[in-house]
Amino acid sequence: MSNLEKQKTKSSKETVNYDVVVIGAGFSGLYQLYFLREKLGLNVLVLEAAEGVGGTWYWNRYPGARCDSESHTYCYYFSDEILNEWTWSERYPSQPEILEYLNYCAERLDLKRDICFNQRVSSAHWVESLGKWRVQTKTGLEVLSKYMITAVGCLSTANLPQINGLGTFSGKIYHTGQWPQKSVNFEKKSVILVGTGSTGIQAAPVIAKAAKKLTVLQRTANFSVPARNAPLSDDFKKRFRNEIEFWRKEMLKSRHGHPWTAPPRKLVETDEDERASILNMAWRVGGLRFRESFEDILLDAHSNEIMSEFIRKKISELVRDPETAELLTPRDHPFGTKRPPIDTNYFETYNRENVELVDIRSNPIRKILSNGVELDDNRFIGANVIVFATGFDAMSGSILKLGIQGREKTKLADVWKEGPKTFLGLGVHGFPNMFVITGPGSPSVLTNMPRAIEQNVEWVGDCIKYIEDRGANTIEADKASCERWTKHVTAVAAETLLLNANHSWYLGANIPGKPRVFMPYSAGLNKYRAKCDNVAANAYNGFLIN
Ligand code: FAD
Ligand code: NAP
Repeated sequence: MSNLEKQKTKSSKETVNYDVVVIGAGFSGLYQLYFLREKLGLNVLVLEAAEGVGGTWYWNRYPGARCDSESHTYCYYFSDEILNEWTWSERYPSQPEILEYLNYCAERLDLKRDICFNQRVSSAHWVESLGKWRVQTKTGLEVLSKYMITAVGCLSTANLPQINGLGTFSGKIYHTGQWPQKSVNFEKKSVILVGTGSTGIQAAPVIAKAAKKLTVLQRTANFSVPARNAPLSDDFKKRFRNEIEFWRKEMLKSRHGHPWTAPPRKLVETDEDERASILNMAWRVGGLRFRESFEDILLDAHSNEIMSEFIRKKISELVRDPETAELLTPRDHPFGTKRPPIDTNYFETYNRENVELVDIRSNPIRKILSNGVELDDNRFIGANVIVFATGFDAMSGSILKLGIQGREKTKLADVWKEGPKTFLGLGVHGFPNMFVITGPGSPSVLTNMPRAIEQNVEWVGDCIKYIEDRGANTIEADKASCERWTKHVTAVAAETLLLNANHSWYLGANIPGKPRVFMPYSAGLNKYRAKCDNVAANAYNGFLIN
């Protein structure tokens, strides 16, 4: 059935039949479609809420939106053709460049004909009598398929805080994760920016340059390391093409899926002069590599404190006003235990005349008025625009919104009431033939995600091939495996400092009422891959096949 015919079914309420339905057309969904269609010859339909491909890079068009992974690593490695044809322009690609890249991949691999856009999935029920998933979208499209794969993203459900008076604001309100397609004009505007995570830290310097006034409302001070973005040299571009195999191997063997691994040295055991020299050099190089300059940063509290203190000192040097510098200095969590942002002139932005930092930890927002925000101490901050850079209902949020119901009408929301339970992040007991890409319990957000995505997509594709080759009807994670894996995910995190940031989104702590469970698998993508391979090599041990 052509894409056009599929679109027609939108209004006719006709049910369409497929082998596999994939939900989401970001990095994950696009590759999953390609793998299943081209390697297995299956009939696949992708349902996508947006009107185009790109996922994260379709929705997050806020000023300054840019990747923190380095460009030549933040891309597909499954296709040598694409690797050789595409050229990145900067050390870190900007949002428009990544969106262009994903559109290029979708065109190059002829993927768009199997994607139905503007189709937000609202329910997905397992129909026992048919041995299929019945997936419905908000516009009434209904799909029956043997397999369902959620590729809905870890960071795709925007968290817009429910603040009194939100609806009364007469200016414009934006969430960075739902940014409008046409550019927003900040000229002559007074802007309030709420949130100082990776997004707020990227957006603040760019908005500050464009707006009349920028007031940043900060709840928690954050660590940030300079990105040191720059155009890629012709020499690098040429060298990269000859060294693709090297980069691939480096990423596959590393814990984070980045092409570097911390050298075998402990910060706490390195003498003071040497450590200062290494840290200063790492600061000059910038980016996520900084954290990897020693191997024990997330394992040893003392080492972490030395690195944290190094960044605190840098903040005090970068920000002229000592009071503002102190307010910007994180003291409530160790560096790296929340997703570490990298920045371009973030701290320096507070030296501008038109920028003000306001602490809403000690003086929270009381309500939003038609022309600004009122704080608890009655202080009024006027604004024409409010930008919420307040993050996402991460990892489980978008999956739970699918309205998934498994065997015996069991709701996924009930099974995950006390936190997500999965086997390898890929399967859930009671939900046959359902696979989750970069789900809770997989390394996902702790990695350079295209590597985690490719691993998950290929594992799921191979698994479906195994089931089809045997003529089996269903595969389902067994209950004991889910219980064991979920405990293992928590135990592994507990061996690190990651649980020391008790308000991080890794734990779901940013969403009121969300259970506090450390969701990503922190033992490393390399170790995780070995475990997944082992399960596959042992006839999908831990899954029930019928
Ligand atoms: P997404 O890109 O989130 O795509 C999921 C798709 O599913 C979306 O298109 C969405 O519309 C669709 N969808 C969701 N729910 C439904 C539904 N109910 N019905 C139909 N469609 C639905 N990762 C890194 O590794 N490095 C980085 O530097 C980095 N930078 C990031 C910057 C930002 C601003 C954000 C938000 C995330 C960043 N990430 C980064 C993580 C990023 O999400 C992943 O790298 C990657 O893009 C995820 O791809 P995905 O396809 O799994 O999910
Ligand atoms: P985030 O890290 O969750 O940060 C949200 C910010 O909003 C925090 O400062 C948070 O404060 C604040 N906040 C949340 N709710 C609030 C409320 N009710 N009132 C006041 N403040 C509130 O979200 P994000 O910055 O969008 O980043 C999410 C993730 O996306 C990142 O961690 C990263 O994985 C990815 N990302 C990556 C990049 C990149 O790589 N280039 C860029 C952007 C995003 P608290 O800290 O107090 O909760």
